[in-house]
Amino acid sequence: MLNNKGRPTQPTTQSEPDVSIDTFTGNKGLELESPLIFEQGVPGRVGVDMADPEPVKSRLGGLERKGPIGLPDLSEPQVLRHFVRLSRQNYAIDAGFYPLGSCTMKHNPRINEKVARLAGLGDLHPMQPTSTVQGALELINSLAHWLKTITGMPAVAMSPAAGAHGELCGVMAIRAAHEAKGESRTRILVPESAHGTNPATAALCGYKVDSVPARKDGRMDMDAFAEKLGPDVAGVMLTNPNTCGLFETDVKKIADMVHEVGGYFYCDGANLNAILGRVRPGDLGVDAMHINLHKTFSTPHGGGGPGAGPVVLSDALAPFAPIPFVTHGENGFDLVEQKSGAAAQSFGRMKGYHGQMGMFIRALAYMQSHGADGLRQIAEDAVLNANYIRVGLQDKLNSPFSGICMHEALFDDSTLKGTGVTTLDLAKAMIDEGYHPMTMYFPLVVHGAMLIEPTESESRQTLDQFIGAMRHLLDKATAGETEYFLSAPLFAPRRRLDETGAARNPVLRWVSPEATDNEDASLSAAS
Ligand SMILES: *Cc1c(COP(=O)(O)O)cnc(C)c1O
Repeated sequence: MLNNKGRPTQPTTQSEPDVSIDTFTGNKGLELESPLIFEQGVPGRVGVDMADPEPVKSRLGGLERKGPIGLPDLSEPQVLRHFVRLSRQNYAIDAGFYPLGSCTMKHNPRINEKVARLAGLGDLHPMQPTSTVQGALELINSLAHWLKTITGMPAVAMSPAAGAHGELCGVMAIRAAHEAKGESRTRILVPESAHGTNPATAALCGYKVDSVPARKDGRMDMDAFAEKLGPDVAGVMLTNPNTCGLFETDVKKIADMVHEVGGYFYCDGANLNAILGRVRPGDLGVDAMHINLHKTFSTPHGGGGPGAGPVVLSDALAPFAPIPFVTHGENGFDLVEQKSGAAAQSFGRMKGYHGQMGMFIRALAYMQSHGADGLRQIAEDAVLNANYIRVGLQDKLNSPFSGICMHEALFDDSTLKGTGVTTLDLAKAMIDEGYHPMTMYFPLVVHGAMLIEPTESESRQTLDQFIGAMRHLLDKATAGETEYFLSAPLFAPRRRLDETGAARNPVLRWVSPEATDNEDASLSAAS
């Protein structure tokens, strides 16, 4: 029996609370409900007392705003409580285990935060004269040095602001390199198991995306790859370790084969966490690879940012790197801002300024606090933890590809077959157990995929509890407790949302119920 909110009217077992009981306030213990911030506003209420500004003559040439902008009037405690409550409805790596595959949600050490907030670094402005920011430029240069050393690559472009932005940088460098040779190539090969940003990047740069199937063992099909190679191929975009959590064993051969037809090897390096200090991408024939500082080098991420995606480049692609970049000469550190001299062949500028300084500081602090031995141990522990989960669940869940995995364990949904419970339902039940779900339905090459990346920063106790919770849920699903899963999550502040509807028809603007024909309503209708 379900009540009108889709919750079971009977608790599943006696010890479980009856969550259908509604409180007077809508609050559930420490889980506090709030109206929208716009609904809380009361005209005339203020948080700070400030004198009315002196009248000034407008210099906007008639472009100044004519009406109110419709922000709510609130007191300071109202604003504070609103955002604190919102933050408590969200899940965070600082709150609990976050095994989201391919995202490397590991602990962000507080030393990084402390260093990034030092006044000399935190208060910098990107438009300061370079003579006043020599230390900051040196920091960018040091980080660049370590990224090149770790990857065994001769050059690095520091400005890209995310992994996907790094891919754009790499593919634009590939295009510029071909154009410099008077060639215009039209196709980029992308394996089926690729992260979605890979084909999107190639398409955005105007290339035809040619998909290469995966073999039965989860690696790229080498015969299909060989068949697709030709003089119109600009390059291949390969993730290594790939999104099945597997090392592409033929990676060196792939590099040689694409070079033979005059193409370049773009390696998606977002999963560097798995091979840090163990394998140097430069030794594998890579021409361009982005490094997600926010993943491997632990800067806070999720919910869309911030990020940093420096791209290491081979000698063949280095001349085409974007401006600006840091140089070091007789007069200290400087920024190359123009497409001349050392940057004569640069494909241009990707963003304002030189990159994500706050992420650079955190990443360098992370590297230096770990040292070379610590960085190597990251990869070893990340792989160990993923395999601990793989083995801990192997009698309950099917691994589509046999053998040892890298930093993430991949399962399919064959256990759930015939239970009426889907990967999605299982993920929703994990929320009730207090876990952020794993990555679901990705990679696409596996049915009902569950991609679990524990990262190295989780303890054995955390992994054991997680494995226990998963085994418990899988037993429940196979024992026929389907309804429990269909109504999950029961304990989340919001339950099942129409995510597709929200993405297709985003409502981005609040309109006062009283607003009928005023500016607010017309603006909203226009947007
Ligand atoms: C995270 C990730 C990306 C994209 O990185 P963003 O910083 O989110 O743009 C690309 N490829 C792989 C394999 C990733 O895991």
